[in-house]
Amino acid sequence: MNLILFGPPAAGKGTQAKRLVEEKGMVQLSTGDMLRAAIASGSELGLKVKDVLARGDLVTDEIVIALIEDRLTEAEAAGGAIFDGFPRTVAQAEALDEMLASRGVQIDAVVRLKVDDHALTERIAKRFAEQGRPDDNPESFKVRLEAYNRNTAPLLPYYEAQGKLTEADGMGSIESVAKAIDEALA
Ligand code: AMP
Repeated sequence: MNLILFGPPAAGKGTQAKRLVEEKGMVQLSTGDMLRAAIASGSELGLKVKDVLARGDLVTDEIVIALIEDRLTEAEAAGGAIFDGFPRTVAQAEALDEMLASRGVQIDAVVRLKVDDHALTERIAKRFAEQGRPDDNPESFKVRLEAYNRNTAPLLPYYEAQGKLTEADGMGSIESVAKAIDEALA
């Protein structure tokens, strides 16, 4: 099973992806985590994307598509992937569909976590205070939300047209969101 966890930044995608990994043995493919690892390692890719992430802008489609492609064999061996933070543009979604089709698989479900903007802004202020993630600062977060609304939200009709989109209320506790996701997947 290949699942996309969809939603704005700080909707809880990463938390829920990690739970599904533990429960179902799937592989979490988070392009954000991969890019942060590249920055931490000081690699050429890391140096290239460091400022883009800090600002809250999107890195190029080419970069993230290549990162995902590199991990698909591993995901297939585990029985499927949870895509977290990817795709974020229609071009990425189309590339993902093609990469999966060439392996004879597909996206089985897209679960959208619905969280209102006010709750997101509160969550992110808390996370910034606790964890100090550089792109959680108010200015970068604003850019990230704008990128979501401009580039990523148009993916909703893309997956709706494929009949794959389900919605879960992302406003509750971690447990209640988990329950909503499980129901959406059932
Ligand atoms: P995330 O942890 O998913 O919120 O991603 C953190 C940052 O990494 C984003 O604000 C972007 O700068 C970059 N990023 C992660 N995934 C993508 C993607 N699929 N397309 C473009 N940029 C991405």
